[in-house]
Amino acid sequence: MSWTPSSWREFPIKQQPTYTDQEALKAVEKELSSYPPLIFAGEARKLKEKLAAAGRGEAFLLQGGDCAESFSDFNAKSIKNLFKLMLQMNMVLMYSTGKPVVKVGRIAGQFAKPRSSDFEELNGVMLPSYRGDIINSIEFTEEAREPKPENMIKAYNQSAATLNLLRAFSRGGLADLSKVHQWNLDFIKDNPLGQKYDELSDKIDSAMKFMSACGLTSDVMPQLQQTTLYTSHEALLLNYEEALTRLDSETGEYYDCSAHMLWIGDRTRDLNEAHIEYFRGIANPIGCKVGPSMGEDELIELIDALNPKNEEGRLNLIVRMGADKIREYFPKLLKRVRDEGRNVVWSCDPMHGNVEKSSTGFKTRDFANILSEVEQFFAIHKEMGTVGAGIHLEMTGNDVTECTGSTSCAITEEGLASRYHTQCDPRLNASQALELAFMLSDTIE
Ligand code: PEP
Ligand code: MN
Repeated sequence: MSWTPSSWREFPIKQQPTYTDQEALKAVEKELSSYPPLIFAGEARKLKEKLAAAGRGEAFLLQGGDCAESFSDFNAKSIKNLFKLMLQMNMVLMYSTGKPVVKVGRIAGQFAKPRSSDFEELNGVMLPSYRGDIINSIEFTEEAREPKPENMIKAYNQSAATLNLLRAFSRGGLADLSKVHQWNLDFIKDNPLGQKYDELSDKIDSAMKFMSACGLTSDVMPQLQQTTLYTSHEALLLNYEEALTRLDSETGEYYDCSAHMLWIGDRTRDLNEAHIEYFRGIANPIGCKVGPSMGEDELIELIDALNPKNEEGRLNLIVRMGADKIREYFPKLLKRVRDEGRNVVWSCDPMHGNVEKSSTGFKTRDFANILSEVEQFFAIHKEMGTVGAGIHLEMTGNDVTECTGSTSCAITEEGLASRYHTQCDPRLNASQALELAFMLSDTIE
């Protein structure tokens, strides 16, 4: 039962690459272990407190970003656009709920991907599947698909640079509430959704002027000028996570310092396997995906393994059933957890249960199904008298065409081809994500 950052190695593990050069792997792990942590344990503890508030219904959790970050599409503009989009959604949700929004990006480390099959076939050629840029490359060649340990170093460096820019945006003035109008993204500005956002910004401007007249300016209230965006990713590649696990001198606890929050995917959450073993020993706030195959007893055992002290804000259960399944599978799990008095933070991932293939050959998701799953999730909580604490989305601040539907941009199956850029799963574009935030704000207010 004793835990160490490497005790997961004694357990069966799924969804891992097979590195051919073990010496190179060891060298990379050693190098990474000597690098500075990306986050400070005190920040992770702060986030845990905020998630505890969300779990009690006193705050709202907004988690989102790419399905997979990539080395090739790494630039300041995409980071800035996602940051602005999060701020816009934050305003919409905060204004309607009157609650603080806890913002957590799927960013600065979201590189490793579980896959439905270990191999991929194209025109009669079989190659290992792409598992995310931290492991191998997406091009369909033998050389590209070979897992390379040194990709972990590149992922660390990209995460550090991304986090640095996010911290600059958060503290350097971009998040200043007097700039709400400027967060509107160019390609949304002139459509009805952009105008709706502008109307909201006008109201916030008036409130700011009123507060300023009362003497409540950013000189006395720095929070009017600053924000905090926490980072998160699926901690799938445990070699990387172990190397960034550090003992916190203040508390004597271990933290995974690769991100503030980490989660376990739906495919690697088996009890008595490596991911549960690793996660039980880190003190960060953590998440676990809950898909339709989760059993009631299994869920209680999983909660007890990951949160034995029943701490508030420690465990985020991210429900991802699908719009056509959530009614059937979720209420019984929720009822059991409620009746057994387990403290968890429930959020809704309306993306991963709603994947489909378009007639034009694209992996996509339809906005109507995404919205429907979100609405059902909050309706079920209302019926049960429990708290739906937030949402978990795959989204980008860029103007892509990856998910069909929505009123604001009405992407058709034919339209998907125009700007289909994702490295892995289809994301909501900025306009679809903002539209979802507006619709959600009507649902939960
Ligand atoms: C993901 O969040 O990108 C993912 C793979 O989700 P899940 O584990 O729920 O399938
Ligand atoms: Mn995904």
